[in-house]
Amino acid sequence: MRKAGVIGAGIAGIASAIRLAVKGYDVTVFEKNDYLGGKLTSFTQDGYRFDAGPSLFTLPEQVEALFKLAGQPTDEYFSYNRLPVITNYFFEDGTNIKAYAEKERFAQEVAEKNGESIQDVLHHLAKSAKLYEITEDVFLKKSLHKLSTYLNLNTVKSMFRLPELNVFTSMHDANKSQFKHDRTIQLFNRYATYNGSNPYEAPATLNIIPHLEFNLGAYLPKGGMHSITTSLVQLAEKLGVTFLKNAEVERIIQSNGKIKGIQANGHQYPFDIVVSNMDIVGTYRKLLPDNKPPEKLLSQPKSSSALIFYWGIKQTFPELDVHNIFFSKDYKAEFEHIFKHKLVCDDPTVYINITSKMEKADAPQGCENWFVMINVPNNENQDWDKIISTARENIKKKLSNILGSEIESLIETEAILDPRSIEARTSSSQGALYGNSSNNRFAAFLRHANYASKIKGLYFCGGSVHPGGGIPLCLLSAKIVGDMVPPASI
Ligand code: FAD
Repeated sequence: MRKAGVIGAGIAGIASAIRLAVKGYDVTVFEKNDYLGGKLTSFTQDGYRFDAGPSLFTLPEQVEALFKLAGQPTDEYFSYNRLPVITNYFFEDGTNIKAYAEKERFAQEVAEKNGESIQDVLHHLAKSAKLYEITEDVFLKKSLHKLSTYLNLNTVKSMFRLPELNVFTSMHDANKSQFKHDRTIQLFNRYATYNGSNPYEAPATLNIIPHLEFNLGAYLPKGGMHSITTSLVQLAEKLGVTFLKNAEVERIIQSNGKIKGIQANGHQYPFDIVVSNMDIVGTYRKLLPDNKPPEKLLSQPKSSSALIFYWGIKQTFPELDVHNIFFSKDYKAEFEHIFKHKLVCDDPTVYINITSKMEKADAPQGCENWFVMINVPNNENQDWDKIISTARENIKKKLSNILGSEIESLIETEAILDPRSIEARTSSSQGALYGNSSNNRFAAFLRHANYASKIKGLYFCGGSVHPGGGIPLCLLSAKIVGDMVPPASI
């Protein structure tokens, strides 16, 4: 039986393992940590359960596709609920806007609160759907690096529509020409942060993202985000995949341009193919030290990182939902701090995710599990301890003002994640959440391919390679790898 080794049990590594097992490979996944899931993990502290990383779930059909592929009933492993309110937005001037899942209701809310026309909001969401339609086939579901992709009729059709992608206009400029009120522009600009980018630099193509939430839906898995990991690990194990924890891969072994295996914890393991889910920068620098690295691709600017305070709050806030945003007053200055000065401003936009709103077991009765996050630059050895203590004070002050409750006295338990710990735990270059940023209009072409052109049998998946970061794209990277790998019987 042909053997496949997967380096890293992030969501893309797990999904790749499933796809290879379905293709008939004997698959072993090597994970350096003592837990699986990489960024998509969870922990419990003093009676509160927290999802440690991702909190927003879109495109659930990509998880379901793995169960279908394996011929297993999804609902025996995994289920989820659609959120009736996608995000609850709080502005510094006291305005509160609820992004209802029902888009007509959301458009009405924006019209009432910001004086926009309902038609303009709906038109923006329809345009977003169109962008998705153009990009889905060419940029997301196939390799951009294989000739066969361009010899396909759907690709050719999409290519003719590329001018509609608006790559030469920034997201902010596009939103400014669409909407009257700064609050509406700020609300739609925020979608650039969904892949760690800057709305004032990123191309308007990123206006594709609201489509995922408003037209296709935002969801919360039952049991929290972490159940995406646990259910897929369960499926993989059912298919015979072996997971080795505390198994750090030290080297990819090759000979005459062909994969031979890997070395982990001092042992050599032979494999016919290897898939690396380790960040592409570390894969080249640490595991392939004798190969010439593709410097241009590896040195692309990285996406933003995050600073997260996990707070057990001994009170409930009925005015909050699962996803809540407390916007900064000066959004442009906030992004200049992150991307230009590589620092954090004194009035950052604060995101709070509270899964216990839907998953009651995630917090003790009468309490809530707050995942409080701000966007921060990636790790360039800033004085993080100082940044964290200043940010903590600023966040508390902002939330206490808007919510009218003194927050410090409500915090029963606390844990912190910052760019240094994200980098150390998952080997993500500079602690970036999503690999490269999309601030450059050519970013899609500056991500590494899903295969190594000079080492036969070596493939790459995960947020640092094509098509990019975030759970849906990571799952698509695994699909692209799965489609490329020859069946085990060959
Ligand atoms: P990773 O999760 O990066 O995992 C890589 C794995 O490889 C790790 O387990 C690591 O330990 C292992 N590894 C690395 N090197 C080795 C080695 N040498 N040997 C063995 N194992 C190794 N996405 C969304 O879709 N929605 C969100 O709301 C969202 N919010 C986020 C919030 C935060 C705080 C973070 C951190 C991320 C967020 N993301 C979100 C992004 C999303 O989590 C990632 O894009 C995705 O989980 C990355 O998956 P991955 O497969 O690339 O691997």
